[in-house]
Amino acid sequence: MLLRHTPLKIQDRKALSVNPAKTCQPIGAMYAALGIHGCLPHSHGSQGCCAYHRSTLTRHYKEPIMSGTSSFTEGASVFGGQANLLQAINNIFTIYEPDLIAVHTTCLSETIGDDVLQITRKARDDGKIPEGKHVIHASTPSYVGSHVTGFANMTKAMVNYFAESTGKKKNQINLIPGYVEPPDMEEIRRLAELMNLSTVMFPDTSGVLNGPQTGRYRMFPPGGVTIPELISTGDSMGTIAMGEYASGDAARVLDTKCKVPCKILDLPIGLQATDRYIDALRKQAGTEVPAQINFERGQLLDIITDMQAWFYGKKVALAGDPDQMIALSEFLVAIDMWPVYVVTGTPGKIFEKRINEITKNSPYPVKVKAGGDLFLLHQWIKNESVDLLIANTYGKYMARDSDIPFIRYGFPILDRIGHSYFPSVGYRGGMRLLEKILDAILDRKDRDSPEESFELVM
Ligand code: SF4
Repeated sequence: MLLRHTPLKIQDRKALSVNPAKTCQPIGAMYAALGIHGCLPHSHGSQGCCAYHRSTLTRHYKEPIMSGTSSFTEGASVFGGQANLLQAINNIFTIYEPDLIAVHTTCLSETIGDDVLQITRKARDDGKIPEGKHVIHASTPSYVGSHVTGFANMTKAMVNYFAESTGKKKNQINLIPGYVEPPDMEEIRRLAELMNLSTVMFPDTSGVLNGPQTGRYRMFPPGGVTIPELISTGDSMGTIAMGEYASGDAARVLDTKCKVPCKILDLPIGLQATDRYIDALRKQAGTEVPAQINFERGQLLDIITDMQAWFYGKKVALAGDPDQMIALSEFLVAIDMWPVYVVTGTPGKIFEKRINEITKNSPYPVKVKAGGDLFLLHQWIKNESVDLLIANTYGKYMARDSDIPFIRYGFPILDRIGHSYFPSVGYRGGMRLLEKILDAILDRKDRDSPEESFELVM
């Protein structure tokens, strides 16, 4: 067992992370950039960083992830990466012809202090950026924050570079979906469209990373928010942003820059958070909630009622991204399960406060840590076990060592296929999550049942 040596004794650690509950900033920036149509992400750093970022996204989505790299070697590390980036911009527009290059930095280029904005201006002055094409950038040093921070920074860059206010409002709203899966983005938009709202969603990786098999490779798949749409976000009636960590900054910058009022909600995971999203849509649309949405909500309620006896009082350990953990914890409490250990690798003050609020009526002591790691979570579990673990693929080692049911959720999921095609947001996503939770609990019950109580019907 790989983790059998995890000690029970917990020691305070400040400078050391063991089995981090996060990945690095550029991965999130790369994922966000793929949500713009015709965009080629570009990693301003060494080839090794870029290879790691691409391979993590490729392993999660089972799709080839394309990105350029400034390919730093010793020379760039000493003298800076300007020459490399100028050459890269020229090569990329000449060979691959994207509409846009989205540059993100890495630990190395940040430590050197490369001024990417100045370099891209020089590229334009030198005629390396063709007419009608764009280069944007986000600063993503990975010794700060996590992949969620990188996603938030690139999403904010979309606003900084593109959003424009013409003074004439358009009858549309902006949706900033947060760091969620492509099918989640689809679901968030579907619910808005059911309310008859015209929307611009950014970033939008649906149709990019969950597209169909056509037998023909397309470097720039049909999905993604377009540049004219991004420009028009400054004229929208309002913005609904989901997830404070991934979307809050972009929504606030858009409000300040173009006077587009924003509402920042939790991710619409589970009953109450989806209710709040639907209510925000209803207020924007000024209409009644349509029958279809009420029907789906009723289905979710029905499933909760049917399953509730199996959920009641179960203790859950969670690890993942902060926006997901906040919404998921609220959903678990709503179905009478108790998140008792909650860890995110992303630092930030509001996380622990929100989880403590959500679990304030818990009959069990609750441990929560922002900027924590899976080693700490495993120590908590070893000291007092739980009924269920929900985490990304890395959680499987803890689940095996401590023999607890396990649900893969979040990013990255490297050892299963299909997860990136089904939503976990909205009422439908809630139903899928409940099915997974109940399956995990009952599979364990079946496994452990003696023959005389190995039931056909539950
Ligand atoms: S943590 Fe820094 S050095 Fe490591 S892969 Fe990420 S950007 Fe590169």
